[in-house]
Amino acid sequence: MKEIRCEHCNTWTDGYQEYCGHCGGKLHEKYLNEIKELEAIELRGIPLIKLNPDAPFFTRGFLQVIRFIQLIFLTIISLIASMASSTVH
Ligand SMILES: [Zn+2]
Repeated sequence: MKEIRCEHCNTWTDGYQEYCGHCGGKLHEKYLNEIKELEAIELRGIPLIKLNPDAPFFTRGFLQVIRFIQLIFLTIISLIASMASSTVH
């Protein structure tokens, strides 16, 4: 059994459940939102590195840095793309 700390009541609860056994609050909310956000980007055909919630802290930090660089890179690309399309019209 994987114990995780509930984001709402701070009690340790079963991490395999969707909702906290103590307060009924939704678990993994932050993580799920992050996944949703990533999937929205991936739907546009851009592959991004996924963060594993079980990964050790330093790995997550490292991946977050890479993802940050990727996002900056994508922002620049989309800026160039919008500039290019505005000159065409
Ligand atoms: Zn709770």
